[in-house]
Amino acid sequence: MTVAPAPGVVEGLDAWRDLPAGQQPAWPDADSLARVTSRLEQLPPLVFAGESDALRAQLAAAGRGEAFLLQGGDCAETFGEATADNIRNKIKTILQMAVVLTYGASLPVVKMGRMAGQYAKPRSSDSETRDGVTLPAFRGDIINGYDFTPEARTPDPQRLLEAYHTSASTLNLIRAFTTGGFASLLRVHEWNRGFTANPAYSRYEEIAAEIDRAIRFMAACGADFDALRTVDLFSSHEGLLLDYERPLTRIDSRTGQPYDCSAHFVWIGERTRELGGAHVDYFSRLRNPIGIKLGPTSSGDDALALMDKLNPTAEEGRITFITRMGASKVRDLLPALVEKVAADGRPVTWVCDPMHGNGITSASGYKTRRFSDVMDEVTGFFEVHRALGTVPGGLHIELTGDDVTEVLGGSEEIDDEGLGRRYETLVDPRLNHQQSLELAFQVAELLRAS
Ligand code: PEP
Ligand code: MN
Repeated sequence: MTVAPAPGVVEGLDAWRDLPAGQQPAWPDADSLARVTSRLEQLPPLVFAGESDALRAQLAAAGRGEAFLLQGGDCAETFGEATADNIRNKIKTILQMAVVLTYGASLPVVKMGRMAGQYAKPRSSDSETRDGVTLPAFRGDIINGYDFTPEARTPDPQRLLEAYHTSASTLNLIRAFTTGGFASLLRVHEWNRGFTANPAYSRYEEIAAEIDRAIRFMAACGADFDALRTVDLFSSHEGLLLDYERPLTRIDSRTGQPYDCSAHFVWIGERTRELGGAHVDYFSRLRNPIGIKLGPTSSGDDALALMDKLNPTAEEGRITFITRMGASKVRDLLPALVEKVAADGRPVTWVCDPMHGNGITSASGYKTRRFSDVMDEVTGFFEVHRALGTVPGGLHIELTGDDVTEVLGGSEEIDDEGLGRRYETLVDPRLNHQQSLELAFQVAELLRAS
């Protein structure tokens, strides 16, 4: 007798459990994990399937060059930093960058936060040793704590629930800010208040003034501005921790298909994209649009094999390849990869992550990046796609809305000494508010030059 899967269970959805899964914690208490995951299964979804479908269509447009994706946020969100001020400043930064890009390039910008769920981090080592003491590595707030104590570093399943609730309250604020009037283009000037005069901000003020003038002109002509009053800001994170993504997967009542409702978009990281691994198998069974990070060791054949597995029906908008080659390698390595995928013909959306291939350690010991390298990788990404006739479809950035000093350079000219002033990230260095705006102005020019 064949046993039909229980209602709400899709065949193969749990096949990942028999496959090697990289970067997962060793939970010390299996019973506690089981209690938490069954609680997560009962909780409401954080996003709706229909929203992920809408995003997939917008990513398809970005893949065709009819829109541009701006995806940005922390390397690692933390529970403690999920405050109204931090969240508002990050949203504001993404919206300001989007205004610069939209106005500068006359292209719709698809806005996505590395927000409301970016709590799990891949690490190069399972453990960390300080002064002869070895403890588990920090894997992100969803797994363990940053403090270097045995209590904090022991993986704790209760953190999955805290991640869910922190994601929910972050998303609640995102939805309030983007639909409640704060994000209205009619108030584009007000987003700049409180910032001192400096080059990036005065350029932003000029654009805001031009947008105001255009809006007054349209109003005088009798235009209706409903479309300017709200924006969509989608959520995304690395789909790393399968014990979290699986219980938040829901079967869509419209179609009977599974969606990971922890975010609109999830991506598979550079360290967990092996073809026979648990992550690729799991995400192959979901309907969300999926990102895949491709670093300098990725070949065209790797990319095609990932497409076979993750997008067998060649659906537009389903796959976003996020390339992160490094400024010194992008012009050498990206062309062969893009050429092979373009020759294959199945649609993908190409996005540039100019952060993760450009890490350095400063003389004073900070993990940092140079703004000039970040910009150089973006420029190389545009050059390669222009030369091949393919589409540079978006940007994936680590940023924060605050005035931190984590990335070297920019017009504030943060130098090695300056890094210590306000270096706050727990994992990778982020562009600060001003560096993010500067990047947006330069990318608007690259987009316009097409
Ligand atoms: C990240 O996005 O923070 C990250 C770890 O990236 P990657 O998988 O590209 O190394
Ligand atoms: Mn990072």
